[in-house]
Amino acid sequence: MNFESLNITKKKSAEAPAKTEKTRCLIIGSGPAGYTAAIYAARANLAPVLYEGMEPGGQLTTTTEIENFPGYPEGTTGTQMMEDLKNQAARFGADIRFGIATAADLSASPYKITIDDETLIETDALIIATGAKAKYLGLPDEQKYAGSGVSACATCDGFFYRKKVVAVVGGGDTACEEAIYLAGLCKKVYLIVRKPFLRASVIMQERVKKMNNIEVLFEHETLGLFGEGAVEGATLLKKRGTADEKTVKIAIDGFFLAIGHQPNTELFKNYITLDENGYIETQPGTPLTNIPGVFAAGDVADPHYRQAITAAGSGCQAAIEAERYLSHKS
Ligand code: NDP
Repeated sequence: MNFESLNITKKKSAEAPAKTEKTRCLIIGSGPAGYTAAIYAARANLAPVLYEGMEPGGQLTTTTEIENFPGYPEGTTGTQMMEDLKNQAARFGADIRFGIATAADLSASPYKITIDDETLIETDALIIATGAKAKYLGLPDEQKYAGSGVSACATCDGFFYRKKVVAVVGGGDTACEEAIYLAGLCKKVYLIVRKPFLRASVIMQERVKKMNNIEVLFEHETLGLFGEGAVEGATLLKKRGTADEKTVKIAIDGFFLAIGHQPNTELFKNYITLDENGYIETQPGTPLTNIPGVFAAGDVADPHYRQAITAAGSGCQAAIEAERYLSHKS
């Protein structure tokens, strides 16, 4: 699965939506932030409607074991945790629907969100929990070999590379996690790191070191990919700008991106204040955006922590703020 396809926002349609609905509290996005907001909003009798987007359950459904979410002493999987959160929200009456936000008009209250180009939802309060999507290097070869050896999700696509040789790009926790996961399936994993050190947490670095079939290529940058119809190798630049600079080629069957994420804010950028990287700016320590009644929760507003537990916490804050806003409004 290609993360590019998972963006829950799509281009605006010129056609008018066929039907209109009114809600008090609309939640867009179904990661830990969205579902937690739904649990709290439903328990506060806000009758929330939640649209799951293209990737029900959000990014965590594409991760492996989750060992650091409090309350799961033995760990759990992202898919299971999201299923649990969804069931918990549904238990309190949250209206959880499949659908993708395709247009937004936040110029005045009630705020207007179009779903799947056909349903216009007018809402008094809006909680944006649309998350973030994986970044790519921007090489033409990433497009050329999309679905033929290039992926940004090891847990989705690793299965196809059993007993093969793959490379993971990045030096953070995600890259280490993906490399470790792939090392359990593949013959060999190259970890391509542009700096002379890993940015990942010490525990993840230690785990990488323990895997005999992971080779870390420090100070290497990817110049391109090659292969007849599918990826057969990568061309790398070693030690750019030094006397030892040289081009090297590695033979690989799969090329996995793990270099960070882009927030899904395209739909809202004309109304909501974003930071220089496209994340929604909120008042520090709160989910409040520049628009009264519009709140942001989870990775869409969090370039720093990006954890399931912090996303869930901000989803809770967003629902509490929505409840306060609505009680003052009515
Ligand atoms: P990070 O931003 O932490 O790391 C991105 C990595 O990609 C860095 O090593 C960066 O290099 C590298 N990179 C960025 N752009 C390029 C490029 N153009 N070419 C080559 N390399 C590039 O993102 P992560 O997704 O790894 O992690 C995000 C957050 O989620 C972190 O806070 C992390 O701790 C957390 N996380 C926690 C996990 C866990 O606890 N189990 C699992 C996964 C993530 P450089 O270092 O040179 O900038």
